[in-house]
Amino acid sequence: MEVLAKGKRFWRILFDALFPRTCVICQKPLGIDSSYDHLCDRCLSSIIWTNVQESENLFNRYKWETEERGQKIFFNRGMTCWEHSGAARQLILAMKYKGGNFLIRDIIAMIKQSGHHVLDFVKNSLLVPVPTHYFKRVQRDYSQTELIADSLSRYARVPVAKKLLVCKNHCAQTNLTTEERLLNVKNIFRCNESNIDKSTRIVIVDDVITTGATLFACCTAMHRRGFRDVNILTLSHS
Ligand SMILES: [Zn+2]
Repeated sequence: MEVLAKGKRFWRILFDALFPRTCVICQKPLGIDSSYDHLCDRCLSSIIWTNVQESENLFNRYKWETEERGQKIFFNRGMTCWEHSGAARQLILAMKYKGGNFLIRDIIAMIKQSGHHVLDFVKNSLLVPVPTHYFKRVQRDYSQTELIADSLSRYARVPVAKKLLVCKNHCAQTNLTTEERLLNVKNIFRCNESNIDKSTRIVIVDDVITTGATLFACCTAMHRRGFRDVNILTLSHS
């Protein structure tokens, strides 16, 4: 085993000499013993994790606030991993806009190492990524929500249904107020017909929850199709 570890370390040193690794957030070089391929320990230590109780409180607040606006909301429970600020925010932005789909491996490794309850949350569930509109997908060459759902699916050994929810129209949400966002996304998602049992526990997956408008519209689409146990999972929350 020791020989194997020494061999691995030798190749790591050689590989780092040829292709130096840097932290995608602070751009500083990563040491040979760095736990991750694209993130330094200093940046990682600044991430503020959100525990189960804090997640429950947060999603309950989303429920109250949305229902106070007269909107019906159709999800049971919500779970989120960390606050959308500082290094965590830059990490999500890099994954989303800078072709950083390679980051997902580090992100899943971080979640594993943190002992976060994501694994329990997705157990016995069907993962459904928030759909990305065709134009956005072409622009970025990948869908970050599918990427997250796929990786979680492998990590937690649960199935994923990528084409169950579809986006009917383009829905740019940036720079809109909460009310405008809720109106903008109201009817843009559709849950396709399928032979999936309607009692299946569904977990809708997104990278970040801001006002919740997009995710709640997805939950409504699932509810209209007859699913009654719909839940939400996001990496970060703002
Ligand atoms: Zn860093």
